[in-house]
Amino acid sequence: MALQSKNFYDVIVGGGSVSGLLAAREISSNGYSVLILEEDHEIGTPEHCGGVVSQKGLEKLGVIPRIKTIENYIKGAIIKTKNSSFQINSENQHIIVIDRRSFDKELAFQAQSNGAEINTKSSITSVNYSDNVYSIKISSGKIFKSKFFVEARGVGQLIKNGYRNAIPSGQYEIYAPWIQKDIIEVEFDSELYPGYFAWVVPTGDGQGKVGVAGRHINTSLTIERFLEKKGKPYSIIRKIYAPLWTNGYIKPFHIERNVAIGDAAGQTKPTTAGGIYSGGMGGIYAGRSISKSLENDNDCSFLKEYQSNWINSFGNEFDRQILFRKILERLDNKSLDKIFSSISSSALDNISSTGDFDFHAAALKSFLNTKITVNFLYTFMGNEYRKIIKDLSKI
Ligand SMILES: Cc1cc2nc3c(=O)[nH]c(=O)nc-3n(C[C@H](O)[C@H](O)[C@H](O)COP(=O)(O)OP(=O)(O)OC[C@H]3O[C@@H](n4cnc5c(N)ncnc54)[C@H](O)[C@@H]3O)c2cc1C
Repeated sequence: MALQSKNFYDVIVGGGSVSGLLAAREISSNGYSVLILEEDHEIGTPEHCGGVVSQKGLEKLGVIPRIKTIENYIKGAIIKTKNSSFQINSENQHIIVIDRRSFDKELAFQAQSNGAEINTKSSITSVNYSDNVYSIKISSGKIFKSKFFVEARGVGQLIKNGYRNAIPSGQYEIYAPWIQKDIIEVEFDSELYPGYFAWVVPTGDGQGKVGVAGRHINTSLTIERFLEKKGKPYSIIRKIYAPLWTNGYIKPFHIERNVAIGDAAGQTKPTTAGGIYSGGMGGIYAGRSISKSLENDNDCSFLKEYQSNWINSFGNEFDRQILFRKILERLDNKSLDKIFSSISSSALDNISSTGDFDFHAAALKSFLNTKITVNFLYTFMGNEYRKIIKDLSKI
C-alpha cells in the first residue's frame, strides 16, 4: 500500500491540471502513493482557460475557492449574431470566473496535503507498460515506475494520439473600458468563427478575457479583428493559443491500467468546450475507482465503475449537446439572425429562471422550440434536422 521505493508509485498522473490533480487528491486520500508529473514549470501556468464555472459545480468537485481565486461574479450574458442580440439573466445559476493559476494551486495543495507528490518541469516523453508496471520517462531521462498510469495531459495528448477536429482558439487578457463588469458576451458569426464563437469574459471592471475559436481560422488575426471592431482603447496583457475539444467523450476511458481523464478523455462540453466541472468529475470518479482497484489486488474490473459513473452523470447531456452542435455547425449568418431574433421573451425568462450552466441542453431545447425556429430548421436542414429531432427524442 505505501511507497515501495523512491521511484516506484502506486499511481503516476501525467498532467498537473484540474483533472489530474483531483484524481491524485482522491487516490492519495485513500493512502496510496501518487506522483504527478507536470511539464510546465509552475502549476496553473500558463493559464489556458476562461475560468467560467458554476459554484454548484465547484462544490461537487469538493472545492470552496479562496476569495483571491474568485475573479468575478457573473449576472448574465449577451448573446449576439450579426444583426440580432438578446440577454439572459444568469443570477440563479451562480456563475463565477476563477483565476486558474490560483485555482489549480489550491487543487495541488489539496492533493499534496493528502500525500501526493508533484514534480513540475517534468515533461513525459514516453509511457511503456510491461509485466504490469508502467515506466514513465521524462525529458531529463529519469524514469519513474507505477502500477497505474493516469493520462491527464489534455487535448494536446488527443491530438498526438491522432484525434482530429480540435478547434483552434486564442484568448487575450486585456484591459478595456468597454468590458462590462458582470456580463459575458458571446458572438456568433458563421464566417468569422465557424463552429464556435467569440467571447468576452469580464474578470473585473474594465478587464477581462477576450477570445475567439473556429474551425480552420487564423486565431491571432481573428482576435485582432474582433478587438478592432470593439474599438480602442484596450491593452493586451497576455496572449494564449490552445485547441478546444467539442467532439464528445472518447470511450473506453481505460485500457488495462492506463486511465484517461478530463480533456484527454474528451470530457469537455460539446457546446462550449468547458471542462473544469465535467473533466474534474472525471478525475474524481477515476481516482475512486483506481483506489478500489488498488485495494483489491490491482483488479482492473473496478475501473469500469469510473466509466459508468461518468457516463451516468454526463452521457445524456453530452449526447444532446452534440446534436445541438450539429445544428449550430450548419447555420449560416442569415439563419443565426433569424433564429436568434425569433426567441420569445417568455423563453428567455424561462431560461433565466430554470437554466443550469452545467447541464444546459434542456435550455437549448426550449430556446429552439419556437414555431418559427422549428419550421425554419425543417426547411433549412430538411432530413438532417428530422434525424436530429429523432435522435434527441431517443436520449
Ligand atoms: C481558451 C480556453 C478557454 C476555456 N474556458 C473554459 C471555461 O471558461 N470554463 C471551463 O469549464 N473550461 C474552459 N476551458 C476548458 C478547460 O480549460 C479544460 O477543460 C480543463 O483545463 C481541463 O483540464 P485537464 O486537467 O483535463 O487538462 P488541461 O488543463 O489541458 O491540463 C493538461 C496538463 O497536462 C500537462 N502536460 C501536457 N503534456 C504533458 C507532458 N508530456 N508531460 C507532463 N505534463 C504534460 C499540461 O502542461 C497541463 O498542465 C477552456 C479552454 C481553453 C483552451
